[in-house]
Amino acid sequence: MTKSPKASVLVAEDEESLRETLKLNLELEGYEVTVAETGPSVLKTVRNEYFDLIILDIMLPEIDGITICETIRMQHNDVPILFLSARNTGADRVEGLKKGGDDYMTKPFNLEELLLRVDKLITKNKRIKDPQSVGDTYEFAGCKIDFSAHECVDKNGQIQELSKKEAALVKLLIEHEGEVVSREQILQIVWGYNVYPTTRTIDNFILNFRKYFEKDTRNPVHFHSIRGIGYKFTAK
Ligand code: CA
Repeated sequence: MTKSPKASVLVAEDEESLRETLKLNLELEGYEVTVAETGPSVLKTVRNEYFDLIILDIMLPEIDGITICETIRMQHNDVPILFLSARNTGADRVEGLKKGGDDYMTKPFNLEELLLRVDKLITKNKRIKDPQSVGDTYEFAGCKIDFSAHECVDKNGQIQELSKKEAALVKLLIEHEGEVVSREQILQIVWGYNVYPTTRTIDNFILNFRKYFEKDTRNPVHFHSIRGIGYKFTAK
């Protein structure tokens, strides 16, 4: 797998002084920080960029944090979410966690504690996503892929060239054999940080893989696309 870039954090907070404090301190810890001030701008930003963590204020203008969290989860995005709340009621905390939040802190909070929790949530999430290691070449169903040479032997025994991105994508899928790899993960790892092609671009790559490796391209058994979620490779 490629070396992981700086972890990126979205700070969703409408209170300016707190937002700036969080941004500055997270940047000092080495994170790449994006900020958002209103509910709609949080949702828009999350749709367009990859984040390793969201710090989400519950009382945000227009759309509240709990609804935002619920919406993000409905889009099958499992980015860790740390709620910030001005209210300290047990019900609020339970509601936040029930809607898919990972952690919860009440304002005013200890900054050092927040930074520790941020680090813990990001590390835990990365550990879950650790890939299986795959060598320079990989064989399945009579086909062979050479990742470093950027070529493969297709279903007909023909050698085909792979582009650098095709090689990176097929390797990523194989490293996660049998698991769904989300669109966000693919974009982050194959296309690089915060640079977003359309879903169609990934679909075209998958169509190419089917052409190379599937006996029946209309009934794929190796390269699966799971609508709205991501893509999956199965060797058998
Ligand atoms: Ca607020």
